[in-house]
Amino acid sequence: MKISIPEPVKEVANGLGKAGYEAYLVGGCLRDLLIGREPKDWDIATDARPEDIQEIFPENVYENEFGTVGVKTGSEEPKLKIVEVTTFRIEGSYTDKRHPDTVKFATKVEEDLARRDFTVNAMALTLKGGEAGELVDPYKGKEDLKSRTIRTVGEPGERFGEDALRLMRAVRLAVELGFDIEMATRRAIEKESGLLEAISKERIRDEFVKTIMAPEAAKGVLLLEELNLLIHVLPELREGIGVSQNLHHIYSVFEHSVKALEYAAKNDFPLEVRLAALLHDAGKPRTKGGEGPNATFYNHEVVGARLAAAALDRLRFPKNTIEKVVHLIRYHMFYYNVGEVSEAGVRRFLVRVGPEYVDDLLKLREADRIGSGVPKAFPYKLRHLLYMIDKVKRDPISPKMLVLKGNDIMEIAKIPPGPKVGWILTVLLEEVITEPKWNEKGRLAERVKELAAMPDEKLRELAEKAEFTKEEFEAGLEEDIKKKFKVQ
Ligand code: ATP
Ligand code: MG
Repeated sequence: MKISIPEPVKEVANGLGKAGYEAYLVGGCLRDLLIGREPKDWDIATDARPEDIQEIFPENVYENEFGTVGVKTGSEEPKLKIVEVTTFRIEGSYTDKRHPDTVKFATKVEEDLARRDFTVNAMALTLKGGEAGELVDPYKGKEDLKSRTIRTVGEPGERFGEDALRLMRAVRLAVELGFDIEMATRRAIEKESGLLEAISKERIRDEFVKTIMAPEAAKGVLLLEELNLLIHVLPELREGIGVSQNLHHIYSVFEHSVKALEYAAKNDFPLEVRLAALLHDAGKPRTKGGEGPNATFYNHEVVGARLAAAALDRLRFPKNTIEKVVHLIRYHMFYYNVGEVSEAGVRRFLVRVGPEYVDDLLKLREADRIGSGVPKAFPYKLRHLLYMIDKVKRDPISPKMLVLKGNDIMEIAKIPPGPKVGWILTVLLEEVITEPKWNEKGRLAERVKELAAMPDEKLRELAEKAEFTKEEFEAGLEEDIKKKFKVQ
């Protein structure tokens, strides 16, 4: 197979060669090249020391991380702007199971390959004069690429013992590449799965995210479970194993969650939707009522949202990701049926859900529906909801859309800043959501005067009531459940 090396990479290899050093293409980039996948980045290994590399390539970024120098190539291509050049190294022992106690530079490429995790990641391709030369492949990585196998370099138990992140990397790579994990490597993962507890949550999260962002995301989650890893990553999901549902589902809670993720991955939905698909029913095991076709799961979306928040926080997901996923889970049960939810109900739906979430919420609903295994005819309803949203989208649904602002209210009612202004705004918004026509200065000013004249206690009650107006889409949901499960 003819391997073509991009010009900027050749230039870096040439620069090293001219200065008397070796240059090899290594790691994931070589692996991807050999199977005809586009490399994510370009990695060169060399016997030059970091200070030599920096001298040869003055345009560089060096963060002193394991001797890797990022050489700036001047290329416009995002993946080629920087070529990573790393000095050969040998790792010392790992007393903490995650960081080598010492990192020593090596002089031979073979020494460097020996520290790498899997055979398919432990090959090197000489770059002489910039051109691809011979393959250095002491662990038969090429054979394993051919048979699509993930196998550790050396004795698996030992290698996982050195750095337990490799447990997650094995699954992630298998899923990303569509490879199988070789038997002895598999057994070692099962046996050593507990070592994951020593690994930082951030690193686990990063591998987990890559696993569920792969097209075969669902297989990845099943593999994590099969290899005893899921319990150390997302034990919340395991609560749904073997928990049967009701007449609307043929799958257990766990199977359904995985199927929902499968659909989300197949349709290239974003990370937040994938996480929500996986966790949307996490509250079901704890809320299950009864058994058989009429089992109920009241409030599982509230309990599930709480469980998801704790789980994602534990895995150190960024705050905005957590908020989004939790919000999607909280509202995934929204009810909509043509003719049963009024325009005011759709406006309240938007207030509660947030217009910016509608798109992802519908994606989640789709994944949920298809993942149930018994999808009902439903898209018409969803299309109708979109039509209704479009119809009401310019209607006021937030205080900033009211024609009167806080300042106007203080002026009209002749009151100082304080909670009273907020109560009045809340009541006005509630009324305008019910009847958008009222969002007009004269009408609102009259109402402000009336409200301001009320005793504080009464006004506050009114505002509280307004805030808790039962959304039809939620009220409808309860009715719907009652009807379906005949628990009037
Ligand atoms: P990706 O395509 O996601 O970049 P990758 O295999 O290149 O996958 P990187 O994290 O970029 O993964 O690592 C580059 C190379 O470094 C790997 O191919 C492997 O040879 C080596 N490597 C990475 N992490 C480890 C580890 N934990 N233990 C041993 N070797 C590792
Ligand atoms: Mg890489």
